Amino acid sequence: MRMDRTGQCLCGAVRFVAHGLRPESASVCHCGMCLRWAGGPWIAIFVESLEFTKEEGLAWVQSSDIAERGFCKACGSSLFWRLTAEGKYQGTTSLTIGSLDDRSGVRVVKEWFIDNKPEAYAFAGERECVTEAEALAMLEG
Ligand SMILES: [Zn+2]
Ligand SMILES: [Zn+2]
Repeated sequence: MRMDRTGQCLCGAVRFVAHGLRPESASVCHCGMCLRWAGGPWIAIFVESLEFTKEEGLAWVQSSDIAERGFCKACGSSLFWRLTAEGKYQGTTSLTIGSLDDRSGVRVVKEWFIDNKPEAYAFAGERECVTEAEALAMLEG
């Protein structure tokens, strides 16, 4: 079921309402960029839209040819990922589950770049796993 949920960065200089979020549809990304940016696996949920109720700390960085990442320039929290590449998925946005005020019902149903996952950790349970090559093929398709 799609719903709205509020969230914020660590210091509160970025606050938002995420619209059209399905808690049971979170995914984790093990790609090298997410690992560096988030300091560990990036666990995120796609949203239909983001409405900012406080954005004085909000900043975006173009992190690759295809995407930008949103963060708080006051406290450094990693918050958002948004696809900038032209195509049918342009504008697709996800946010980290840690930024949500209410994390109840969150389920991780997919793992991206599974072939890049460090051996230091593993998620319990079974779910769909996508390799780097498969993920890139999806983006281009
Ligand atoms: Zn902050
Ligand atoms: Zn990633």
